[in-house]
Amino acid sequence: MIDPHAGTLVELLAPPARARELIEGARDWPSWNLTPRQLCDLELLMNGAFSPLTGFLGRAEFESVAETMRLADGTLWPIPLTLDVTEEAAAGLDGKPLVLRDPEGVPLAVLHPEDAWEIDREAKARAVYGTRDEAHPGVAHLFHRTNNVGVGGRVEGIQLPAHYDFPTLRLGPAELRRRFARLGWRRIVAFQTRNPMHRAHFELTLRAARELEANLLIHPAVGMTKPGDVDHYTRVRCYQAILPHYPQHTVELALLPLAMRMGGPREALWHGIIRKNYGCTHFIVGRDHAGPGVGSDGKPFYGPYAAQELFRAHEDELGVEMVPFQMMVYVEDDDAYRTLDELPEGARTLSLSGTELRDRLADGREIPEWFTFPEVAAELRRTHPPRNRQGFTVFFTGLSGAGKSTVANVLLTKLLEMGGRPVTLLDGDVVRQNLSSELGFSKEHRDLNIRRIGFVASEITKNGGIAICAPIAPYERTRREVRDTVAPGGGFLLVHVATPLEVCEQRDRKGLYAKARAGIIPEFTGISDPYEEPADPDVVLDTSKLSPEEAAQEVLLHLEREGYVGPALHSI
Ligand code: ADP
Ligand code: ADP
Repeated sequence: MIDPHAGTLVELLAPPARARELIEGARDWPSWNLTPRQLCDLELLMNGAFSPLTGFLGRAEFESVAETMRLADGTLWPIPLTLDVTEEAAAGLDGKPLVLRDPEGVPLAVLHPEDAWEIDREAKARAVYGTRDEAHPGVAHLFHRTNNVGVGGRVEGIQLPAHYDFPTLRLGPAELRRRFARLGWRRIVAFQTRNPMHRAHFELTLRAARELEANLLIHPAVGMTKPGDVDHYTRVRCYQAILPHYPQHTVELALLPLAMRMGGPREALWHGIIRKNYGCTHFIVGRDHAGPGVGSDGKPFYGPYAAQELFRAHEDELGVEMVPFQMMVYVEDDDAYRTLDELPEGARTLSLSGTELRDRLADGREIPEWFTFPEVAAELRRTHPPRNRQGFTVFFTGLSGAGKSTVANVLLTKLLEMGGRPVTLLDGDVVRQNLSSELGFSKEHRDLNIRRIGFVASEITKNGGIAICAPIAPYERTRREVRDTVAPGGGFLLVHVATPLEVCEQRDRKGLYAKARAGIIPEFTGISDPYEEPADPDVVLDTSKLSPEEAAQEVLLHLEREGYVGPALHSI
């Protein structure tokens, strides 16, 4: 079996007696609640996937890794692994060990701090990612989701983070090595992925394993991957569905709780080191491996083969052989996948992009069998139903008396009449009586009110229901926040009820404008408090020109155009 990186598999879990000591000590030591990424990093430190690291990097190691891709002793290590904490947490250290806790407060490990320093984000971004452009997800994370102070030091593990999902697939390096030994596997090619696997991936992994006469480890990253990726529950079901298509006794699936950085070439090298620790001898490196997408100038951050070049340059030192990912395309006439370089002259090839796949899922169109196995398509359909079966939120915004509630109620009855999905109306006044009864009308309170509405709407939407919201929601930023909370789980439609202030004031259904003018009600929207017009409404309604029915029709037609409501036949 291949040796771990730098010779020994490091395991940081303390023996039981020492672990008890640490738990006792933890009562008096300062604590740090790990961020989701740190939780992933700690797990891979403790289980040895990051061998030879024995803790989070100190400043000198950090700088050496950032600049030279090597630890101070010269060992190849391309990604700096730091524990970033707040200034308060760093100030509280005072020479004591730092207890690292999971989000529920369970102590997982103890770090013995050797140094603490202010992280230079600019320098780190440039050194590791080669850019400070925030279109790069790794850079965006660094700038907006990390704390200022790095704390370096040795880690002693108490227990691994708990995982209740797919426990039989979560094997650490030592466990996986034992399993390989038991199976008699010696040449093992690892396939890293953060996406569902389709036929092309199946064909290329099968071919790689066959050509090398090696066994195959499908080793998907299930920690944090690129924002917007298919969730790991769905992905794992897809991988499980594809396994029976491989020859028997040739393939294993295991999950890697890795928080990806989307660091391109450096990350590819890191992935290879990690797989070496898991006992793999070969590693498949694709075109644009761990690619972060394009920069704000529209150009890719790294060349398509930069990852392969960097890997190739360190292959001998690492001792893990790179298997370059061959672009596989479907040749219609042969009903088979071929690599680009073996395409017959004038062959008719078919391909489907990720965007096209998402569009097909959203519209409920067919996904061809040549593209993905039907079992995989079925799994994807379960979590990505067509739009006319997804939940959505219609968010009305506008001045008091603009007609939000009136139109929202007409829309509500139309949607109830259609049936098929549960509908909830979160009207401004009703919400203020229930969810937000303690709140007033300061900016802070208004924002809090809208965030609550957004949270409820996102839960409803995610679970396939329809939420109709009708608050004033005067602030652009907060409305955007709501869109960002809701949109990942379904549709979001912003409707600006843009009835002119004079009309609203003239209607003065509740007599509030008169009171506001008289100064009896302070901070009244449109009179003594701001209303920021939406910059990106999906629908604009002026109820001084449209009847409530006409206004509701405008919204329905927009929903229809976007695919969220469809023919009665297909809506069940
Ligand atoms: P908001 O919820 O925006 O505060 P409401 O819907 O409670 O507004 O109040 C709007 C008032 O304007 C209601 O009294 C409604 O009857 C009246 N109104 C008159 N014409 C229209 C219209 N075309 N659309 C909506 N409301 C209208
Ligand atoms: P927001 O979106 O700003 O939180 P809501 O839609 O939740 O506003 O609440 C607005 C309702 O509260 C109005 O329809 C009106 O009946 C009432 N109201 C009372 N005082 C004010 C005020 N100062 N500004 C706006 N609306 C007020």
